[in-house]
Amino acid sequence: MQIATTVREAKAICRAWRREGKTIGLVPTMGALHEGHGSLIERARKENDKVFVSVFVNPTQFGPNEDFDKYPRHFEADKAFCEGLGADLVFHPAPEEMYHDQHCYVNMDLLTETLDGVARPIHFRGVCTVVSKLFNISGADRAYFGEKDAQQLAIVRKMALDLDFDVQVVGCPTVREADGLAKSSRNVYLSPEERAAATAIYRSIRQGREMMREGLAASELEQAMAATIDAEPLMETEYVSVVDALTMQPVKTVDRPVLVAIAAHDGKTRLIDNFSWDPAEAGQTAEA
Ligand code: AMP
Repeated sequence: MQIATTVREAKAICRAWRREGKTIGLVPTMGALHEGHGSLIERARKENDKVFVSVFVNPTQFGPNEDFDKYPRHFEADKAFCEGLGADLVFHPAPEEMYHDQHCYVNMDLLTETLDGVARPIHFRGVCTVVSKLFNISGADRAYFGEKDAQQLAIVRKMALDLDFDVQVVGCPTVREADGLAKSSRNVYLSPEERAAATAIYRSIRQGREMMREGLAASELEQAMAATIDAEPLMETEYVSVVDALTMQPVKTVDRPVLVAIAAHDGKTRLIDNFSWDPAEAGQTAEA
């Protein structure tokens, strides 16, 4: 497995692969890797000749009062994790390597105007910019993103389409802990009490799926799910929102594929989760 810290090195490695006719799978991450990331790397390993994992805590997607400084960084462990899963290249640049003064940004309108785009106004501009750079640096055939960050996945898909990136964006299912909490690098922030309280999010997802099956209106479902989360004294719902799966705009009636997106504060930690629902699909199981 190779390690590259400069854009020039990473491009040269990928250029050589492409010249040999190899396909490249890209897995963008911010490190502190866990089994959620692992599932993306494994999928990329199955579907491509070469696997490019980026480990980069991207400063431009953090707001001024967010956790950029305290975000967990464990590069030695991440390297071993990637090697164990058969990655070919880990790209680990410093922020100065990726950003110059007066850097250009990639922005998107409609899909970033709801959900996390409201709470984190510059977040998706930073995501779109860094993902565009990684698409160009790697020349990847496929890029792997988690459904855990469903709005991000929808935005990246739309960006790749609109900007004619020659890359297939692949969505991968959310990997959860045994009690249903979505695996996240930010779960290390939780105290034992907060960790126990966090299970309310998954309980609300199970409840939401049940209510979908009963055909209840979006607003009833949003209120009931938020109440389940807020019943935990340490938890506070930021939003539970039923949105169109493609446009991320709120829907009143679930008459098309939707995303039910959740953001909640658990002590000082902000957690997100979601489930998707397609009313046309019969026989969805109770498991989120
Ligand atoms: P991050 O390092 O948090 O920026 O995540 C990098 C990628 O891993 C993103 O595409 C995430 O959606 C994905 N990811 C994070 N957590 C999970 C999870 N629990 N299951 C599946 N994918 C995940």
